Amino acid sequence: AKRSGKDRIRHFRPGMRQGLRDRSKLETELREGLGRDEFFPVYQPIFALNSGTPVGFECLARWKHPQRGLLLPELFIPIAEETGYITELSLKMLRQACRDARRWPDALILSVNISPLELRDANLATEMLAILKEEGISPNRLSVEITESGLIADPRAADTVLSRLKSAGVSIALDDFGTGYASLQHLRELQIDRIKIDRSFVQQLTTRTNSEIVRASIALARNLSLGITAEGVECSDSVDLLKDWGCDLGQGFYFGKPLSASEATESLLGGSLS
Ligand code: C2E
Ligand code: CA
Ligand code: CA
Ligand code: CA
Repeated sequence: AKRSGKDRIRHFRPGMRQGLRDRSKLETELREGLGRDEFFPVYQPIFALNSGTPVGFECLARWKHPQRGLLLPELFIPIAEETGYITELSLKMLRQACRDARRWPDALILSVNISPLELRDANLATEMLAILKEEGISPNRLSVEITESGLIADPRAADTVLSRLKSAGVSIALDDFGTGYASLQHLRELQIDRIKIDRSFVQQLTTRTNSEIVRASIALARNLSLGITAEGVECSDSVDLLKDWGCDLGQGFYFGKPLSASEATESLLGGSLS
């Protein structure tokens, strides 16, 4: 057992070092990339289940890396969180999203993602509201999604930020509901308007456990007078079930994949979004 342990270490370490090198390289590249505006938003439509019409878009970050190509958030968001660049990234996404949203009908809601780490900074609300004002977007068109990437370290700071946003008219959604990190605690401590049920539950509604979890989440949200968005809606069967169970909004590949800003605008004009 000892020998195989040693072997494992011997085989494991070079890869580990490689991983660490990649990581610190990515960190440098992230900082440079922010300076060079290599990050841009794509937009995934969110639909009202009853009417089948689009009600808004969620802004999702992408990184057009000069050598590595198009990178997805799962690679760079954790590094941006660890290195503290996440707020700069979020504010850049928000500004660009506001510019893009100016070409969409006023009734459409723009959703942006905020990591719990960012809520430690009580100035966040002021900075976000300033961007909305500068870009001419009314705060009641914005929804902030708090991703479940971690615990809220400082609930009081978080509450200050969210209260300011809310009193300006911004709505607050709790993202990835049902996965890890104290969803229920967030529900109790933060002023949430809506939950987004994590796609891992919605994708396979045919399994008994998933359907019970989704139904219980919907019931809980409704009892608390919260809105409910189901993520990861991939087929029309899910739409029917979710509608029956009282879920109001849906998002997922069934309705549409994330689109570039111009594709999103075209889809609205051309009516290709239902
Ligand atoms: P999320 O907020 O849960 O976003 C939904 C993710 O699910 C997106 O992945 C989207 O492309 C994917 N998705 C949507 N519909 C479906 C579906 O029907 N089936 C499947 N299999 N997947 C679907 P993406 O763009 O890779 O984003 C991953 C996560 O990165 C997001 O999860 C969000 O937590 C985080 N993120 C993205 N942009 C930002 C940002 O600007 N700031 C922060 N803090 N986090 C971000
Ligand atoms: Ca989200
Ligand atoms: Ca989510
Ligand atoms: Ca997620």
